[in-house]
This record gives sequence, structure tokens and C-alpha cells, in this order.
Amino acid sequence: MSEAAGTGERAGHGTELLVVGSANADLVVAVDRRPGPGETVLGSDLVVHPGGKGANQAVAAARLGARTALLARVGDDAHGRLLLESQRAAGVDTSAVLTGGAPTGVALITVDPSGDNSIVVSPGANARLRPADVRAAGGLLARARVVSVQLEIPPETVAEVARALPAGTRLVLNPSPPAALPPDVLAVCDPLVLNEHEARVLLGGGVGGSGGPGPGPQVPGSGPGPGPEDWARGLLALGPRSVVVTLGAAGALVAGPAGGERVPSPRVRAVDTTGAGDAFTAALAWRLGLGEDLATAARFAVRVGAAAVTRPGAQQSFPTADELPPATP
Ligand code: ADP
Repeated sequence: MSEAAGTGERAGHGTELLVVGSANADLVVAVDRRPGPGETVLGSDLVVHPGGKGANQAVAAARLGARTALLARVGDDAHGRLLLESQRAAGVDTSAVLTGGAPTGVALITVDPSGDNSIVVSPGANARLRPADVRAAGGLLARARVVSVQLEIPPETVAEVARALPAGTRLVLNPSPPAALPPDVLAVCDPLVLNEHEARVLLGGGVGGSGGPGPGPQVPGSGPGPGPEDWARGLLALGPRSVVVTLGAAGALVAGPAGGERVPSPRVRAVDTTGAGDAFTAALAWRLGLGEDLATAARFAVRVGAAAVTRPGAQQSFPTADELPPATP
């Protein structure tokens, strides 16, 4: 199991961005109506897309021109080969992608005519990406300027990435799916990147509601209807070095100890927002690794997120550098 899928080339030499995360096959069936308990419905032909937040981020960065590597685990099966192929086609260094141990992770997605969907995720091989795999990839971590991680892999593996981070390598963490993070992981996030829903969960607002984060006790100074600036303050109080809250069409808010700044997104005609956050985070992480400050990197990342929503799908919607809309004046 643990066979690296690479060509023998030294993994990650001069890597600008290392993504440690999930790789899933998204299995999508369109239905007239999503089935209730005990019910069977007939749907469209199956469509299979490469997905998973780690794989998405790696493709997004590489397509922009970043020297990108992926540390992930896939099964020794057709879905795993599909994922490796999409990574390689985008130019991602896959020599640290591990194969075997479980079937490739899948997301089973039914989508109805209104666009509402029901999703079952089988983490599969993603759940077998272990702390030992991170330790074995220590050289790759050491050669990366930035490491980007999400929460579709085991929490102990995320914790090992934080622990193994060499001095001078920056960690970007997107807490998705949202879950509480231990203080030692939060302390090295620079930034913690999250959307409004994820912000709400981390601030203790619960998983089930809608709208922005609730005025929970962890939001300092929160009164009725706290805004993103309040969320960012509350999130910074949890310990990360900096925070970026993505705000959909409104762009993003970047915040650090010195204060916050709104970064508007270019106005585009949105057709499908799937993967926008992954594209944004990958772009942000890459540009931070090139030495840009947080606001400058976010001004680039909102253009990447905006471009991604103008086309359907996740990986297939991610832009190349010459497809980006101009920066908002
Ligand atoms: P997520 O995909 O995680 O829910 P967001 O919806 O906040 O995250 O989107 C991430 C980024 O993508 C935003 O910060 C923004 O730059 C861009 N984006 C998303 N939706 C739109 C939109 N409708 N118009 C323009 N940009 C968008």
C-alpha cells in the first residue's frame, strides 16, 4: 500500500505550494426528485468528476502557473487513476500521491432540477492518509514555501502537518468541513481561510442554521447582527496568526493583529459556485508563498474565485492566469 505514484523525480523540488488533502471522485446523477427514505428513483447517466478539496486546490494552483505538489492518498482503482490524470494534466507534481489501502474516496451526489443536492461521502483512502505519511514526506514539506491543508483528511494528520511544519514554511488552513481545531493547530494558521458557514461553526454558532455566524459568546463585542469584521475578531481570538473570511460575491475580508481590510470581488455572471472557495484558497496560498502580503494575495485570489464561478463544475471551472477578470479598481 503506501506506494508513491511518482516517476522517481525528487518530489517537491522548489515547490511553491504543497497541498495536503483529499482527493475524491464526485459521482453525480441528476434526478427529477431526490429519493425519500426507502424510496428508489431513476436518474440520468452517471457523470464522474475529479474532486475533493485537496485535489481541487492543487489543480487550481497549478493551472495558474504555480509549481504545485499534492500529498494525498487514492485507491488502486479507476477513480484513483482519474484523479491522478487530472492532477498531471494540470501540471501538479503527483510523486507524493500515495496509492492503496482503501478505495478512492467518493462523493455520491444526487442533484434535482432546482440545483439542490444530497451528498453521501465515503472518505475511503482519504481516511488512510496518516500522520506517518506526513512524516515520510518531511523533505517535501521542507521544500515547500506554503503548505495548504483542509479537513477532509483525519484530524491527527492535519495536526501532524502543523507539527512538522519547518520554520519559514507558511500554513494555510481551510476548516472544511468545519470542525473545532486544537490550539496548537490554530496557532500556526497564517491565515485560517473560511467562508461564512465555516466561520459560524468555528465561532460556536452550530452547524444547522443559515445566515452569518450567530452572536455567540465567542464573538467579542457582538451585538445584534454582527458583521464579518466581528467574526474575524472572534476568529483571531481563537489563535490563528491571520484570518481570511470569504464572502461570496462580496469578495473577502482579510484580518490580522494590525486590523482588517475588505477586498471586493470583480463582478461576474455566476453560473456555478462549486469549488470557488478551493480556487480562492489555492490562489491565496500560492501568492503568499511568493512573498505577497495578505491583502495583495487576496486581491489576486478574488479574481481567481470570481473566474471559477463563471463556469460550471469545480476543477473544470478553474482559470488559467490569462482568463482572470481585471482587478476591481
Ligand atoms: P465557498 O465556495 O467556500 O462557499 P465563497 O462563496 O465565499 O466560498 O467564494 C469564494 C470566493 O469566490 C469569494 O471570495 C469570491 O472571490 C469568489 N466568488 C464566489 N461567488 C462569487 C460571485 N457570485 N461573484 C464573484 N465572485 C464570487
